[in-house]
Amino acid sequence: MDAPRHKDKDVLLAGAVAVMGAQALAIFVVTGGFSPLLVPVLLAPLLWLHRAGRRAAHSEHQALHDALTGLPNRALFRDRVGRALTAAQREGGRPVVMLLDLDRFKEINDSLGHHHGDELLRQIGPRIAGVLRSNDTVARLGGDEFAVLLPSAPDADTAAEVGDEILRALAEPFHVEGVDLEVEASLGIAAYPEHGDCVDTLIQRADVAMYVAKGKELFLSEREDRPDPLALVGDLRRAMDDGELAVVYQPKVDLLTGEVRGVEALVRWEHPSRGLVLPASFVGHAEHTGLIRPLTIHVLEAALAQVGDWHRAGLDLKVAVNLSVRNLLDRGLPADVAGLLRKWDVPASALELELTESTIMADPARARSILGELHDLGVSLSIDDFGTGWSSLSNLRQLPVDEIKIDRSFVTGMAGDGNDATIVQSTIDLGRNLGLRVVAEGVEDDEVRGLLAGLGCDLGQGYFFSRPMGGDELAAWATGRTLAPA
Ligand code: C2E
Ligand code: CA
Ligand code: CA
Repeated sequence: MDAPRHKDKDVLLAGAVAVMGAQALAIFVVTGGFSPLLVPVLLAPLLWLHRAGRRAAHSEHQALHDALTGLPNRALFRDRVGRALTAAQREGGRPVVMLLDLDRFKEINDSLGHHHGDELLRQIGPRIAGVLRSNDTVARLGGDEFAVLLPSAPDADTAAEVGDEILRALAEPFHVEGVDLEVEASLGIAAYPEHGDCVDTLIQRADVAMYVAKGKELFLSEREDRPDPLALVGDLRRAMDDGELAVVYQPKVDLLTGEVRGVEALVRWEHPSRGLVLPASFVGHAEHTGLIRPLTIHVLEAALAQVGDWHRAGLDLKVAVNLSVRNLLDRGLPADVAGLLRKWDVPASALELELTESTIMADPARARSILGELHDLGVSLSIDDFGTGWSSLSNLRQLPVDEIKIDRSFVTGMAGDGNDATIVQSTIDLGRNLGLRVVAEGVEDDEVRGLLAGLGCDLGQGYFFSRPMGGDELAAWATGRTLAPA
């Protein structure tokens, strides 16, 4: 790990400020003549400069490090990979990028709570660093995903050995608040020059190798030999350009009257040889490979164009589009959305954005500010998969949220499971007390629809009403069942 290098930098910055302060003092002394009474006056700017310098160093550190673990974040990691590549191209060398994620992290988080989850995440970095050299980097990219940079490995076997050692080190139980936790990790490796010569390609290749390795063994990307997710993911950019990404729509229905209040846009990849590919197979990879912004814009374009068509045909529908974690780290999102609403001449009130609690919690301060801007545009916001995350009520209340969607894992089986029914009931009560619209996802039969209606839930979505369908089909389905958007 390279924490010491960073400390040096902080010291350097602070040192520069001290010198500036001394110059300021010298100027005061020369021009003002010296009096002991002046000391506090002279000291004030000095202290101010010193503190400002420390603040600058502090906020630079914050911008480049993960708040939870203190490890370098994605931005700093990318920067280091870039530098290692530049050095390798100049002087020779073999930078190696490894990505790893924890296979059972969600289970741990769900069963023991986020406090244990957080503590576990804090212990991962030091554990990995224990097998690395001092000029290697270990970073946290987000969630349970970590990355390692070896700026120059002698050969592929050495890199694979380091990868194995990391997995062995992580296989030792973690002692977290009196509980011994066993963690499995998947790790993928990509090396310059054979797997790529730029930052994005190397990270993408390592990500795919990790995906292939999932919980089993270590794979270098060159050993990928099974149905190849790389081919799939590597193809996503082209698929977007070639119009292979389609958007389908699933109605959000009034539980009492059956009328359609809105639709959710869901992306599909109509792959020429693999057939229909569902978002679970590619949205996560789009996140890791920088394609999530074009993907989201693609879906927004399709959905807003469709809503424009529906409106012109007299169907007053509102469309909800899903956002991913990285969309909410993208300061440009509100401007993108505003531009697309103008382009398709659709009122902001016809657009809703769905995001999960964990998406927000990845960077709550930034999420708050971006969501505030979106809300000011007139776009409404919905919390997706509600009940599966760990956001506190107070966090939620600070956000300009209009709707919560109860996760389908509680809804689908609620008729036969008292616990689920209780969770659903209290979520409905909570939402209504906060003045939010409540949608239940995963309504698969009439019994659950009836129960939800009885509990005061506003809307339902699920196979009982309809599977997602194409825009024209939805228009035919919704005609006569449409009420003013909620
Ligand atoms: P989600 O936002 O929770 O979307 C609802 C998912 O539940 C959809 O799966 C939908 O087809 C499925 N579903 C709807 N009704 C029922 C039901 O009654 N029973 C069951 N078992 N499932 C039902 P889909 O389309 O495969 O999407 C999966 C996830 O992929 C979505 O979960 C969302 O998180 C993500 N996703 C989909 N489209 C997009 C997109 O355009 N952008 C982003 N960032 N994520 C997307
Ligand atoms: Ca959704
Ligand atoms: Ca959902």
